[in-house]
Amino acid sequence: MRMELIANIPDPGNRKRIVIIGGGFAGLQTAKKINSKYFQVVLIDKVNYYQFQPLLYQVATAGLEPSSIAYPHRKTFHNRDDFHVRSCLAKRVRPEEKVLETSIGIINYDYLVIATGCDTNYFGNNDLKESTYALKSISEALLARNRILLSFEKALSVKSEEKLKELLTFVIVGGGATGVELSGALADMKKTVLPKDYPELDFNQMEIHLVDASPRLLFGMSEEASAKAADTLKKRGVIIHQNIPVNNYNRPFVELANNEKIRSRNVFWVGGVKPNGLIGMSENSYMRGRIIVDEYNAVTEHDGIYAIGDTCLLTNDERYPKGHPQVAQVALQMAKNLAKNLNNLAKGNTTKHKFVYSDRGSLATIGRNAAVADLWKLHFGGTIAWWLWLWVHILSIIGMKNKISVFIDWVWGYITYDVSLRLFIKPKMNRMYDDIDRREREY
Ligand SMILES: Cc1cc2nc3c(=O)[nH]c(=O)nc-3n(C[C@H](O)[C@H](O)[C@H](O)COP(=O)(O)OP(=O)(O)OC[C@H]3O[C@@H](n4cnc5c(N)ncnc54)[C@H](O)[C@@H]3O)c2cc1C
Repeated sequence: MRMELIANIPDPGNRKRIVIIGGGFAGLQTAKKINSKYFQVVLIDKVNYYQFQPLLYQVATAGLEPSSIAYPHRKTFHNRDDFHVRSCLAKRVRPEEKVLETSIGIINYDYLVIATGCDTNYFGNNDLKESTYALKSISEALLARNRILLSFEKALSVKSEEKLKELLTFVIVGGGATGVELSGALADMKKTVLPKDYPELDFNQMEIHLVDASPRLLFGMSEEASAKAADTLKKRGVIIHQNIPVNNYNRPFVELANNEKIRSRNVFWVGGVKPNGLIGMSENSYMRGRIIVDEYNAVTEHDGIYAIGDTCLLTNDERYPKGHPQVAQVALQMAKNLAKNLNNLAKGNTTKHKFVYSDRGSLATIGRNAAVADLWKLHFGGTIAWWLWLWVHILSIIGMKNKISVFIDWVWGYITYDVSLRLFIKPKMNRMYDDIDRREREY
């Protein structure tokens, strides 16, 4: 009989053990709100830090340091009693045994909270996956930053006009908030900092294309917000291809469904997400890859398993028959409600609260002094929306030092029209690193 490796986690004694997979918006909030008097908490995540995804595009465009939008999980839970963080990968759940298989061994649970979020969706197209840049994590944002900066460095020395065009053309696929924000930030760079850094280049030749398959930009927001965003981006020189899907990227050509081809080395794919699932539950527990939950975020067919945030699908809310929007507020509110219900249960209080989403509105920035806001019945844009966007994001970032650092970077950028982090830093690849990597994997 094969012996299974058991992850090294202290015995919970007479406390119940809650295992939370994912330390993003939803998982971290659940972990914070769970009462450690009653529970041992094990938080597992494939990275050892929380990443504030709404500002990844600013890391990609050299506006913010990666460390100012990340926060180590261990630091968040200093001084928490019987709290255990493990950096590992959750692989499969065995609901009948209440066991989770992970890359560091199996972990028993009393309650399992799945908060694994989403990853980029390439809709099965491997060419797109292998040759475009995504923006779902800090490492991807750094890769994108390197690409952007490298293109200008290379543009200085290419001889052919075609190659120059390739390097100075940026294509962003996906007209949601990230696509709009990334296009706007590049347009700002084109106007302000890049001509100062690269005076030998002619920035009239730089093109920014935003390609969107849906009928309007920011499809989840109001029509007023979409129109305002499109108008502002056009005024800032962004070329918008609306209602046109991208068929493929056959380097160096981005092939659009209307047969148009855009020649570019810099293609950013922010055109869709798919849930990070966890296998092992019954087939009926999944729909379109998302985990189906009831109004208490419980996976009905399996005792003690819950799913929250982007990865779950709650269909019996009349207002959201196709599921809730995959945004931070939904993840945070689900997490708070679930933690409240679990804490109540532990205290012997059987009152359960249904999850009811309270929509606090949406904001998206388009660049310097420009944003759009849908707040209740109000739709507005411009400088006021932009300041609101700035404050909401500063307040949402975790860690006082991070808030201050982001604030300083933004104020500095606003006053000087400059972003200070235009470094491309790549890991040095050599045999020694490969060996270390292999030894760590075998350990
Ligand atoms: C670029 C970008 C911009 C965005 N902008 C906004 C915005 O402006 N406003 C807004 O409301 N929303 C925005 N969103 C959406 C928002 O970030 C998500 O709705 C939110 O992060 C969902 O939270 P979550 O906890 O479900 O998942 P996440 O925050 O994605 O967290 C999932 C966690 O699970 C971990 N994980 C995944 N699989 C495993 C595994 N198998 N084992 C171990 N760990 C695992 C991941 O490492 C991650 O830490 C944006 C998203 C992106 C990508």
